[in-house]
Amino acid sequence: ILILAIESSCDETAASVVRNGREVLSNIISSQIMEHRKFGGVVPEVASRKHVENVSWVVDEALKEAGVKASDLDAVAVTYGPGLVGALLVGLQFAKGFAFSLGKPLIGVNHIEGHIAANYIEHKDLVPPFVSLVVSGGHTFIVHVKDYGDFEVLGETRDDAAGEAFDKVARALSLNYPGGPEIDRVAKLGNPDAIRFPKANFHENTLDFSFSGLKSAVLNYLNSAKQKGIEISVPDVAASFQKAVVSVLTENVIATIKDRKLDKIAIAGGVASNTSLRESLTQAAEKLGAKVLFPSTILCTDNAAMIASAAYFEHISGKESLMSLNAKPGLTLGAR
Ligand code: ATP
Ligand code: MG
Ligand code: FE
Repeated sequence: ILILAIESSCDETAASVVRNGREVLSNIISSQIMEHRKFGGVVPEVASRKHVENVSWVVDEALKEAGVKASDLDAVAVTYGPGLVGALLVGLQFAKGFAFSLGKPLIGVNHIEGHIAANYIEHKDLVPPFVSLVVSGGHTFIVHVKDYGDFEVLGETRDDAAGEAFDKVARALSLNYPGGPEIDRVAKLGNPDAIRFPKANFHENTLDFSFSGLKSAVLNYLNSAKQKGIEISVPDVAASFQKAVVSVLTENVIATIKDRKLDKIAIAGGVASNTSLRESLTQAAEKLGAKVLFPSTILCTDNAAMIASAAYFEHISGKESLMSLNAKPGLTLGAR
């Protein structure tokens, strides 16, 4: 089964051909990072316009590199949410037109389910059930993946996403957009125990997260240090902030595998490439005899191969989307 997928939910225009959900024949990503960097974040209108300029050649390139003719495809998949509505619509309209003209089925894919599916590509023998920690630019979920396409969300953020916190703190530290990789890099030069930032303290027993309090604590620290004329060590702040995020992510994942008696953890989303998170989870899981899996960096951040993989498992279970499929900017995990 050959599936072409298109992804345009945020600031990457991507297309990919994947065979049987796990074998990547091409993975083309046109990133707009440089376009948005001067604004310190993604500008939705700019993103939509860039997708329009890029989608057609990115798809061409994906087919060419895969050595596949459009007529050989079994289905055309596309991200229909969550994401920026204008950005999603570009990929969606293109995919609909392409599928219709070829007479092939259209498969709308949930972007978050795509992030989780990146693990199926990286780990050829990974099969559900497992726990997934989804940590991306806009979302933070702990989810019990019971089967392909069958998700139970056990915890989520109540305010900022993990990646969003990285990006906002990086901005306050005058680091480049996107901030996650920058903090990861700079934190290696700092002392994670230099500053004690507070953890969110829920009064009930929960697997939920909150990162906005931590972000405010970092901003307050920076402001008060500036006022008092205390020198700020960017590496120490980055390392201490990162430690606070990583420790709460690790705690909740470990609580989940104990509770659900599962022994596999697959992390997903851009923050899954964070060095400290990978180390911390791997160490903590080892003590329980559990295994931690993560995709390679290129499959952690936005790409279309992960969308094709998720679509494959929908396709073999007989699912197909209607041509009336619309973009769903607020789509959540597990929703149809
Ligand atoms: P969503 O998937 O929720 O719609 P998105 O697609 O923008 O959001 P991703 O592409 O999954 O998010 O990931 C981008 C995020 O990952 C950014 O917030 C970025 O800072 C963060 N990120 C990337 N690499 C790292 C890293 N090494 N450490 C921490 N964060 C990282
Ligand atoms: Mg991006
Ligand atoms: Fe994403």
